[in-house]
Amino acid sequence: MGFATDAIHAGVRPDPSTGSVMTPIYQTSTYVYESPGRHRGYDYARTINPTRSALEENLKVLEGGRAAYAFASGMAAISAVMTLLKSGDHAVVSSNVYGGTYRLFARVLQDYGLTFTYLDTSDAGSVEAALRKNTRMVYIETPTNPIMILTDIARIAALCRSRDLISVVDNTFLTPCLQRPLDLGAEIVVHSTTKYLNGHSDSVGGAVVLARDDHAERIKFVQNSVGAILSPFDSWLVLRGIKTLPLRMRAHCENGAQVARFLEGHPKVARVLYPGLPSHPQNDLALRQTRGAGGMISFYLKSADAAGRFFGPLRLCALAESLGGIETLICQPSTMTHASVPEEDRRKLGLTDSLVRISVGCEDAGDIVADLERGLAAA
Ligand code: PLP
Repeated sequence: MGFATDAIHAGVRPDPSTGSVMTPIYQTSTYVYESPGRHRGYDYARTINPTRSALEENLKVLEGGRAAYAFASGMAAISAVMTLLKSGDHAVVSSNVYGGTYRLFARVLQDYGLTFTYLDTSDAGSVEAALRKNTRMVYIETPTNPIMILTDIARIAALCRSRDLISVVDNTFLTPCLQRPLDLGAEIVVHSTTKYLNGHSDSVGGAVVLARDDHAERIKFVQNSVGAILSPFDSWLVLRGIKTLPLRMRAHCENGAQVARFLEGHPKVARVLYPGLPSHPQNDLALRQTRGAGGMISFYLKSADAAGRFFGPLRLCALAESLGGIETLICQPSTMTHASVPEEDRRKLGLTDSLVRISVGCEDAGDIVADLERGLAAA
C-alpha cells in the first residue's frame, strides 16, 4: 500500500464487537478471564491495550519495522532504548541532540555507569575515530534540533553494522512520511509522538520502532516492566492524528520552504538554517535522504538585542516550546528548549540568544510571513 493508505488504515480494523470503523478507546485497566489461566490475549492493560496495539501496528508499518511500542513520552521511549545498554557501555551521540535527551544521558544515565561521547555525527570519520572497545551504540538525530545539521543515516548505519553497534535515529522532526531510517539500514527509530505524528499539540507521547526481533523482545519486556506506557486516550489521539500525517507534512514542507525563502531574503536575518534551501551546506544529502525538508527552520538575527525585540510584536506565531503541531510555534532555544544544555556547550554549538527556531504550521503561508515581518520590523 502507499504511505497515505497505510497512514489511514494500518493497524486499524473495524472493532469486532460492534463494527465501529474507528478504533475505540479501550479505557479499561483489566480484562475478564474465561477461566483461570485462560484469557483472550488481554490480561492487564499495562501489558496490552487494543487502542495502543492499533497505534503500535500502524507505526510499525509506517516506519517499515518489525515491531513498535508506544510510551508515555518521547523521553520514556528514549529511556527504554537506553536499557539495551549495560553499565560500562559507551555510546556516541550527535552533539546537539534535543536538550532533554542530553539531560537524560548526562545527568541520569551517566550515574548508572554509561558513558557518552558527543560529536558532530555528520562527520562519519569522527564517529569512527570515537569508537572504543566498549562502544555499543551510535545515537543520532537528523536533522538536529535546533541547528539543523544532517547525518548521513545510511553511512552511519553501515558503520554500525560492520562493528556490531546498535544504530538509533530520532526521527521526530521528519517522521516516516519524509524519512525512513530503517530503510537506510538503521536498527532503531525513536519518536516524540508529541510532535508531528500526533500533530495537534494535544498529547504527550513517544514510540520506539525496531528492525530486530531481539531488540523488539527486550523493549516489549521493558515497556511492561517499567510501565511508562501511552494511555488509551493518547494512543487514540495519535492514531487519529497520523491519518492526516501525509496531508499535514505536505503543508509543513510547502509553508516551510516559503518561510525559509522569505527569511533568507530579509535584511534583518543573518543566516537561515533549513535543509531544503540550496544554501544549506547539506542540501544534497537532504535531497538524497529525505522526501521533503519539513517545517522546522532556525535562523539567526543579527544580535541578542534584536532577538529581544523580535518576539513582542508577533500575533500569530505562539511563543512556546514544542513543535510539529498544525499551528506555528516559535521559540528562543537558548532560554527555552535548550536551557538545560550547559552554557559553554551552547556556545560551542552556536546556540546563542540570537538564534530563533520556528515550527512552521499549516496556516496560510502569507499570514505566517506577515507575522514574522512584524517581528523583524521591530528587531
Ligand atoms: N526528541 C526530540 C527531537 C524532541 O524535540 C523531543 C521534545 O521536544 C523529544 C525527543 C522528547 O519528547 P517528549 O517531550 O515527548 O518527551
